[in-house]
Amino acid sequence: MVHSTIPDHIVVFGRPGSGKSSLAERLGTDFGYHLVRTGEMLREAIRRNDFLGKRVECHLAKGDLVPDGLIFELLEINLKSPGSNRLLFDGFPRTMGQVPLLEQFENRLHFKIDCYLEIDVSREEAVARMTGRRICPKCGATYHLIARPPKVAETCDLDGTHLEKRPDDTTEVVQFRQQVYDEHAVPILKYYQEKCPELCRKVNGNQPFDAVYTEARAAIGG
Ligand code: ADP
Repeated sequence: MVHSTIPDHIVVFGRPGSGKSSLAERLGTDFGYHLVRTGEMLREAIRRNDFLGKRVECHLAKGDLVPDGLIFELLEINLKSPGSNRLLFDGFPRTMGQVPLLEQFENRLHFKIDCYLEIDVSREEAVARMTGRRICPKCGATYHLIARPPKVAETCDLDGTHLEKRPDDTTEVVQFRQQVYDEHAVPILKYYQEKCPELCRKVNGNQPFDAVYTEARAAIGG
């Protein structure tokens, strides 16, 4: 089916534990978006233990944001002329300082964000969900003990590696990341609400994943 009316370039916002990444993946599969996920790019750099990975590791472990300059470098490397591809940004922009960086990429690579989609979840619900998250330390595949369990308990479906908690999913760090989101994302959402309210959409994330997905599809006209 051709979805000609859906937005070509989306930014998805949602607090840690909102289901933002699962939603991004599903939209990517169903509508052909190329996913631009800064969190995943950073974790990949850490797994490779390259120069950038070494510099960002401590920020992620603490649940703190990576400095805007490093995010710019990361995107410079990973965001090469997307052409007519549909893009979905998951995790960027994450600070007001990154908002002009996105505008810079839009101008330089000739694309325009035509939808800002927020998954609205309460902080309590998000924290509760995060305790069930698991990740494969080898390939980075993500699971959830209830929402997306692996076929064999605590084992990666793709390579059989024993699953672990993300190092930044410990109780203390989880609370800190929620605080960071409240501090940084709220001003960004307010900025886009004022600048281009017609492009902003909000879905209720306090429901099971399939219901969130159905609402998100409807919100983008898919
Ligand atoms: P979550 O949404 O659950 O926090 P992400 O994978 O989006 O997961 O991000 C994980 C971590 O990566 C963040 O806590 C932060 O340290 C870092 N990060 C990701 N994207 C950015 C960004 N755009 N700017 C700064 N730090 C980022």
